[in-house]
Amino acid sequence: MSDAETLFERIIAGEIPADVVYQDESTFAFRDINPQAKVHVLVVPKKRYRNVAELAAADPELLSAVVATARKVAELEGITESGYRVVFNTDGDAGQTVFHVHAHVLGGEQLGLFGR
Ligand code: 5GP
Repeated sequence: MSDAETLFERIIAGEIPADVVYQDESTFAFRDINPQAKVHVLVVPKKRYRNVAELAAADPELLSAVVATARKVAELEGITESGYRVVFNTDGDAGQTVFHVHAHVLGGEQLGLFGR
C-alpha cells in the first residue's frame, strides 16, 4: 500500500496533524492543505473505500452519512445560504490523488465553472 493510500487514515488516527472541522462515529472532516476556495473542507468516511463508486456499491448508508457531514460542514462554515459545491474526484481523468474516498466541500466565494 502506498503512502497516498494511507494518508487520510493517518490523519483520522491523529498521526498527521490536520485542521479538523467536524467528526462523528463514521465520518471525519478537515481543511484541505491546499485550498481551492475560501472554504475547502474534505469529508471522508472513517472506513476506507477507494472512491465514491465503491462506497456507493458497498455501503450506501455510509455514503449518505458522508453527504450529511458535507451539509453539516456547510452549516458550520456559514455557507449554506450562499451555496457550495460537493465534488468526488473519481480515478484518473478526474485527478484523484488520494484513494480513500473524500468529498471536497468548496464555497465561501463565487466558484468558477469546472471542467477542463
Ligand atoms: P483528490 O485530488 O484526491 O480529489 O484530493 C486530494 C486532496 O487532498 C487535495 O485537494 C490535497 O490538497 C489534499 N491533501 C493532500 N495531502 C494532504 C494533507 O496531508 N493534509 C490535508 N489536510 N490535505 C491534503
